[in-house]
Amino acid sequence: MAEPLFDRLCLIGAGLIGGSIARRAKERGDLAREVVISARTGKTLDRVRELGFADRVEESAAKAVEGADCVILCVPVGAYAAVMAEIAPHLKPGAILSDVGSTKGSVIRDLEPLLPAGVHLVPAHPMAGTEFSGPDSGFATLFENRYVILTPAPGTDAEATAKVREMWARCGSMIECMDATTHDKVVAIVSHLPHLIAFTICGTADDLSEETRESVLKFAASGFRDFTRIAGSDVAMWRDVFLNNRAAVLEMLARFTEDAQAFGRAIRWGEEDFIVDRIQRGRKIRKELIEHKQA
Ligand code: NAP
Repeated sequence: MAEPLFDRLCLIGAGLIGGSIARRAKERGDLAREVVISARTGKTLDRVRELGFADRVEESAAKAVEGADCVILCVPVGAYAAVMAEIAPHLKPGAILSDVGSTKGSVIRDLEPLLPAGVHLVPAHPMAGTEFSGPDSGFATLFENRYVILTPAPGTDAEATAKVREMWARCGSMIECMDATTHDKVVAIVSHLPHLIAFTICGTADDLSEETRESVLKFAASGFRDFTRIAGSDVAMWRDVFLNNRAAVLEMLARFTEDAQAFGRAIRWGEEDFIVDRIQRGRKIRKELIEHKQA
């Protein structure tokens, strides 16, 4: 077995993502010699103790990060500023501070100003997830064959970035580096807009009259069901994503709205070629995704 990458790995947040990293770390022992976890509520802390995926559980985030070589924030991105204010004075000199947040510009905005000298910030976003949340929802293989995007600022300590890269490689992920702005645009189209559409379509169906609504639920299998799976996601996480990737989401939504209007116009005027072209493009993308083993 490879030497553990870190002596002490600290995870702030023990939901789907934090819990999955911790389970992976405990299962193989090659990420860290010790895994310390902190979460917001006593209920989650108790559950982490019961599930046994941490070596130590701390109520206080400040206490949890003490002496850790690597600290990973696994909380909703809207909580970063407050969490950082609490932990910053307690981070060990030379430590790596990373995260798993779904937005990256906001993460750098909220963490960098409080970053102590000698602590290396390497933001990360594992492009892996499910619609489930909380300490019971995680599993050790969540990140296998999934991309993880790193967005270190230019000039970030190369060794720190290499360690974060290696950590995710050991979790079975493929790693890409890009700047935070590019990341936020990419995820706005591949993740945030699809969620916005799913939440909206469920809302639209919910607004329909009682009789139609019952039929919608009864015959949901034909497409609507897939939207309800996405729409079943965590409220706080998605509230924070939309509020913290505002510009990119609004840009993609504007483009999508234009394209959807064009589709509607083609239907209205019976423009068969346009409709066929759109469906074929959708099928092509699906096929490519399957070929890339990301379906
Ligand atoms: P989760 O299952 O809901 O877990 C969130 C954790 O954060 C819990 O331990 C919770 O503690 C803690 N927390 C919540 N609000 C907090 C606050 N205001 N202050 C301090 N701690 C707080 O969420 P998750 O799915 O693991 O998401 C965590 C991060 O990963 C988010 O930034 C999200 O954007 C990112 N991410 C999620 C996915 C996904 O598909 N879910 C994929 C990639 C990245 P309590 O349980 O004690 O409340």
